Amino acid sequence: MPNRERSIRVEAVVLRHMDWGEADRLLWLFTRELGKVRVVAKGVRKLHSRKAGHLEPFTRTGLLLARGREMMIVTQAEAVDTFPLLRDDLLRMGYASYVIELLDRFTYEEGQNIALYRLLADTLSRICTETDTSQVVRYYEVRLLDLLGFRPQLIHCVKCGNEIKPEAQYFSAAQGGVLCPSCGPNTPGARSISMQALKFLRHYQRSSYTEAKRAHPTTAHYREMELLIQHYLTYLLERGLNTPEFLRRQKMDLPDDEQSPESPPTDHSG
Ligand SMILES: [Zn+2]
Repeated sequence: MPNRERSIRVEAVVLRHMDWGEADRLLWLFTRELGKVRVVAKGVRKLHSRKAGHLEPFTRTGLLLARGREMMIVTQAEAVDTFPLLRDDLLRMGYASYVIELLDRFTYEEGQNIALYRLLADTLSRICTETDTSQVVRYYEVRLLDLLGFRPQLIHCVKCGNEIKPEAQYFSAAQGGVLCPSCGPNTPGARSISMQALKFLRHYQRSSYTEAKRAHPTTAHYREMELLIQHYLTYLLERGLNTPEFLRRQKMDLPDDEQSPESPPTDHSG
């Protein structure tokens, strides 16, 4: 009797892969239909594999998955978007690596999350096409925190509950939000945040991307938001993220004539 659940058609972004056995590869996918899953692609390391090019990391791809005994097996793959603009631009590639790493580290095989899939796919497209990639990435971080259930409180003081007034404030990762100037200094680990940076973060929190784009933070405000969000993300993950360090080094390297000899941000070859 045919089992109707034997195969499933999904759309996915390939997060990372690892060589497996003689010619196979394990893939970690974030799918629209099943959320994060680990699958096996058989024979893709053979010279003339037709599937291989459709299963590279950062590729958005349509797949047919068959249920194997332990893992699902890729039986068909057809790239939807390979994001070719990423491949020629080290900085954009660095941002894409960061976006994928962040999602990978915050998610488990816990089932479908369509909003998260859309955010990931849209963000990768935006990294390819938008001029202001800082905006794309900061917006992604704020929305990601929302969708993962870590939305920081930015409207009321997390300690006394008073509404935040238009002045410099504090932020506590441990308390998950902003603190007023009375509560902030007495809270261990709280760090200062300017009213402007806070306004931009609130704007991202409540806006669609089209609306979010209307804001034009200065480089200093981007930097302040970046550091604050990194601080919060690091607290949440309880360990440092590697990719932002890479991006910082790339930015510092940019004015030089010499191309950085460093290897790509994430080793996907396993
Ligand atoms: Zn307070």
